Amino acid sequence: MGEIGFRHSDTARPALIDPFARAITYLRVSVTDRCDFRCVYCMAENMTFLPKRDLLTLEELDRLCSAFVARGVRKLRLTGGEPLVRRNLLDLINSLSRHLKSGALSELTLTTNGSQLSRFADDLRAAGVRRLNVSLDTLDPDRFKSITRWGQFGKVMDGLRAAEEAGLQVKINMVALRDVNADEIETMLRFCHERGYDLTMIETMPLGDIEGDRTDQFLPLSEVRRSLEQRYTLTDLPDRTGGPARYVRVEETGGRLGFITPMTHNFCESCNRVRLTCTGTLFMCLGHEDAADLRAPLRASEGDELLHAAIDAAIARKPEGHDFVIDRGQAPAVSRHMSMTGG
Ligand code: SAM
Ligand code: SF4
Repeated sequence: MGEIGFRHSDTARPALIDPFARAITYLRVSVTDRCDFRCVYCMAENMTFLPKRDLLTLEELDRLCSAFVARGVRKLRLTGGEPLVRRNLLDLINSLSRHLKSGALSELTLTTNGSQLSRFADDLRAAGVRRLNVSLDTLDPDRFKSITRWGQFGKVMDGLRAAEEAGLQVKINMVALRDVNADEIETMLRFCHERGYDLTMIETMPLGDIEGDRTDQFLPLSEVRRSLEQRYTLTDLPDRTGGPARYVRVEETGGRLGFITPMTHNFCESCNRVRLTCTGTLFMCLGHEDAADLRAPLRASEGDELLHAAIDAAIARKPEGHDFVIDRGQAPAVSRHMSMTGG
């Protein structure tokens, strides 16, 4: 695919405000449901992926993202599946970067497993990307293999080096798993903070069927925090992202540590985000099944009127909050996988 043909946004449109007076300023976009890894908590090993014809084209993704930017979205995060396995993704990123240049967007960023970063880091930086979230649950190559099933640890390390060399700021996301990596949290903290990376710990969420039981591996971050506090001084930071992350400064390392606790829903009142899948389905809340199809209105006409009407109708249904439960023997709270809606 060549250059994405884009359109200038038309007349000023009203900001997106949901029924609870929250402004929607953050859009996460899953650009593909495919991935080159098969992380045990995220996917079954033999996943069935969407047929390619169901995916939005890069031009359509651009049009959708731009419609949200025209409505006041200031931050775009591309995720997946693995965003960097989507063919020609750089065309989309290069095209979306016009919104950075115009000042409409304050940040364009990605969440990636890091496997392809050595190929893409320089181009991402050139397109205006400044920060990346890289998911990494362990520093032990054998464990890495057992968690990701298909991943190669060395490639992710090369990717991290390339990101650093390109001048990209890195935040590591680590899913906390009781018997898998709980003993590595301190090692990971030191690894990250020595390199100037932030570290964010994530609790496992009951999203999508996997082969196995998540309750065994659920590790409450309150427990992690208590255990770290026996050896480190953690100072709460006021930094808020509008999401489920809370940050502390680790005084001994000088670095930042985040805790993402989606199971406690005390962050919902400040929620500023919605999630778009690669088929154009908009999820107004990670913890609810309710969704709006934006693909049909997008494809129904050349103009964006129908699309904006569908976006308005969707935002008017954004729920106040969610209520996840990880319960033994229960079906996942939400049946879609994280790779559909993106992390
Ligand atoms: N492939 C990319 C990656 O791994 O960074 C982006 C997509 S991935 C779905 C986004 C984030 O979701 C990753 O940090 C991953 O660890 C996390 N994740 C996936 N399934 C999860 C689950 N069931 N509970 C909590 N986090 C999950
Ligand atoms: Fe792929 Fe990311 Fe899911 Fe792992 S967490 S299987 S890297 S989408």
